[in-house]
Amino acid sequence: MDIERFLVKEGKKLDLRDHPTDHSGDYSDKDAAAKDLTANIERMSELQDILYAQDVYSLLVVFQAMDAAGKDGVIKHVMSGVNPQGVSVVSFKVPSAEEMDHDYLWRCQRSLPERGRIGIFNRSHYEEVLVVRVHKGILQAQQLPSEIKADNDIWEKRFKHIRDWESHLYENGTRVIKFFLNVSRNEQKKRFLERISEPEKNWKFSMGDVKERTYWTDYMKAYAEAIESTSTKEAPWYIIPADKKWFTRLAVSEVIVKTLEALDLKYPVLSEERKAELVQARTLLEAESE
Ligand code: ATP
Ligand code: MG
Repeated sequence: MDIERFLVKEGKKLDLRDHPTDHSGDYSDKDAAAKDLTANIERMSELQDILYAQDVYSLLVVFQAMDAAGKDGVIKHVMSGVNPQGVSVVSFKVPSAEEMDHDYLWRCQRSLPERGRIGIFNRSHYEEVLVVRVHKGILQAQQLPSEIKADNDIWEKRFKHIRDWESHLYENGTRVIKFFLNVSRNEQKKRFLERISEPEKNWKFSMGDVKERTYWTDYMKAYAEAIESTSTKEAPWYIIPADKKWFTRLAVSEVIVKTLEALDLKYPVLSEERKAELVQARTLLEAESE
């Protein structure tokens, strides 16, 4: 799969209309994609094992999307083959009182994956330039100095904080990739209606989501600007078509595998001393009486 077509190149003007929501590449249906998804999940599991053993790099995967775009499903499917000890998933909701008492990157910083691990952010620091931008009242309610709340350049400045923070992570061995699951407004409506009509999906439905949908155009504007301003070589954004869930999962798995493959991953090489220790341990074990 050509993942380059989903990549947002640094410094390039972004028009979301150039990114179809229902694209599915050379794949005709779910069955055609299933084999490749399984292969990617297996490969990810192998690579994660080395990532963990090497204990040098970590991978941070950020998911942002409108409601019902399929974030939860992608995380569940794509990470299904990976050793749970090597992965953490953090969902960022409306900030708590404690979180509000800190700068907006604080809760993200403390949720970062340790070396050797994969961290998933289900929503992220980007909410601070998305929902907070769309709903003016949220920023005004934050405990920030008034001149900061009144600053017309606040979003530009936040984009810069984010770029700088992600660059800092890169320089410390954390690879950051960011996915925008690009669902159409129509497909979202269809999924909401399913949540209403299918009893086992009722729990997923929230009246707030329907209200949020009325801000669609504002969100798309905020997404386009945020993505365009923060997609860098070190921490790229990928815009993944999300009208077909099976394709979204495959494309995300493909990008993660390729990102891990691009790292210089290798199992640690044993020192002579350690090798001698293993020989000694074998001798001891073999000499044990039953
Ligand atoms: P799902 O609905 O699938 O469970 P979700 O990610 O939509 O997943 P919710 O609990 O429905 O989870 O929503 C979390 C809400 O928190 C979203 O509306 C999001 O915009 C909001 N949120 C996240 N971060 C911030 C933030 N920094 N400031 C204000 N609101 C935020
Ligand atoms: Mg929700």
